[in-house]
Amino acid sequence: MPADCLFCRIISGQIPSTKVYEDEFCYAFKDIAPKAPVHDVFVPKEHYSSSLEVTEAREKNIGHLIRAASDVARQKGIDSSGYRLVLNTNADAGQTVFHLHLHLLGGQALGGMA
Ligand code: AMP
Ligand code: ZN
Repeated sequence: MPADCLFCRIISGQIPSTKVYEDEFCYAFKDIAPKAPVHDVFVPKEHYSSSLEVTEAREKNIGHLIRAASDVARQKGIDSSGYRLVLNTNADAGQTVFHLHLHLLGGQALGGMA
């Protein structure tokens, strides 16, 4: 675990967060600067920087993150209204924290490109 990684420090509890979900493989918390009424961040407990580091061995973990985020979306009642899962990679996408993470956004109509 890189000591200088913000999300590793959140997972270990060194930096406080508002937990929304946790299991053996992932941890999820409320985004500190929410861009929608529901804005949670899902991170694998294993540190790797981005989608560019998703190896065959890590593939299952990505499916797991999607399933966990969708379960939380269902729990928060935004499943039928709709939600967006966002995975930013590198500068043009606006990635600021280099520990892979999936944003769960919803609770309002979301604009955007895709
Ligand atoms: P990204 O821009 O895709 O790298 O997303 C990083 C996200 O982490 C941003 O939406 C930030 O608002 C969020 N963030 C940064 N620091 C914290 C923190 N201490 N607790 C919760 N979310 C954070
Ligand atoms: Zn990390």
